[in-house]
Amino acid sequence: MAGRSKLWTTLDLDADGKQVGTVNLPHSVTRSAYGVIPIPLAVVKNGDGPTLFVMAGNHGDEYEGQIVLADLIRTLDPGAIRGRVIVMPMANGPAARAGARVSPLDGGNLNRAFPGDADGSPTWQIARYITDALVARCDLFVDLHAGGSSLSYLPFVSLVLTGEDAVDRRAMAAARAFGAPRIIVWGKAEPDGTSTTPARLHRVPKLGGEYGGSGVVSRSGVALVARGVRNTMAHLGILDEAPRRDGEPRLMEIKDRRYYAYAPCEGIFAPAVDLGDQVTAGTVIGHLHAPEYPARPPVPVAIGHDGLVLCMRAIGRCEAGDCLVHLATDRDDPIVR
Ligand SMILES: [Zn+2]
Repeated sequence: MAGRSKLWTTLDLDADGKQVGTVNLPHSVTRSAYGVIPIPLAVVKNGDGPTLFVMAGNHGDEYEGQIVLADLIRTLDPGAIRGRVIVMPMANGPAARAGARVSPLDGGNLNRAFPGDADGSPTWQIARYITDALVARCDLFVDLHAGGSSLSYLPFVSLVLTGEDAVDRRAMAAARAFGAPRIIVWGKAEPDGTSTTPARLHRVPKLGGEYGGSGVVSRSGVALVARGVRNTMAHLGILDEAPRRDGEPRLMEIKDRRYYAYAPCEGIFAPAVDLGDQVTAGTVIGHLHAPEYPARPPVPVAIGHDGLVLCMRAIGRCEAGDCLVHLATDRDDPIVR
């Protein structure tokens, strides 16, 4: 971790009104000696009050959040809010423009680069700016994801428990207000470089979530994210309205890597289960076919635990080590209820 971020913006993040502009990443190359890479950023503020920081395009091939946040920038009226909303619809700008998970500039995965490095390559520099200038300013951080090109998900809002009760309770309350059909508690080791890292550094509650995948735009995912972001503003008191939800969310968790299934060899993955299926330990979740060796029988892949199929690989051709499926299980923990 190194010093001050070199990204700069002409926006005044503390001024009232609506400002739509960019944060600029210095990028000096042969075709542009003094050039910058502009990354969209907006702030809408009206007086004192809570700050929501919401971003998408952390992974550039996850689209629902990018669409919803651009729409939010166009439509949010400062006169309709109390407090502040900071919106970054294409957080890893170069990756988002390329429609790719990682940046074409440095191969960087922004969601493995936090808290970032002011002297690092572009992706690590962006992470440093988000950590120091945006997460540090907010009362709630929302990072919108989807499965990207290689995975498909059942939709959910998520949080990672920090062990700090006050922060975890605020995250859980915000997750309930978001209005997704499932709340997932991720079991993740820290520090893992994800956007949870700056949230933890600044003791800010953070919501993640997956709202589609397969490298396409989910209509229902866009609707869910749009309502969820609005519900989050309502929950914080930024909008003077009540969150709108359809019933109670199912509280679930992703415990650890034992609830994942990986390809043991290369081949074409033919699933034997669907998203949303309840499976038991030993269930064959699919086969890896090798039509280049037609005499060889397909290789079955079993899952090691009981659970709900939350995520599936969205690309047929696999290499050894590709994630094929992972599960979620019901959680009953009064600490976060
Ligand atoms: Zn993602």
